[in-house]
Amino acid sequence: MEVMIISDTGVPDKHVSVDEWGGETMLRLEDGWCSAVDRDTFRCTIYENRPWICREFEMGSDECKDEFNVIR
Ligand code: SF4
Repeated sequence: MEVMIISDTGVPDKHVSVDEWGGETMLRLEDGWCSAVDRDTFRCTIYENRPWICREFEMGSDECKDEFNVIR
């Protein structure tokens, strides 16, 4: 899932990808996972600074579980 950064919440630059039009998204690694995911705990390593879209995405919701199952 692409995570657009639509407001400044303080996401560290190393986790930001900028497209040719200046649009910002969370950087995804080669396997498609967000670069801010801790691979051991599956927790967000920038939780206090996560993008607004992540804040709106309800943890444990059906939508969340669907996305999690897609990447596993
Ligand atoms: S909650 Fe954190 S790890 Fe998950 S997509 Fe958002 S920034 Fe990435």
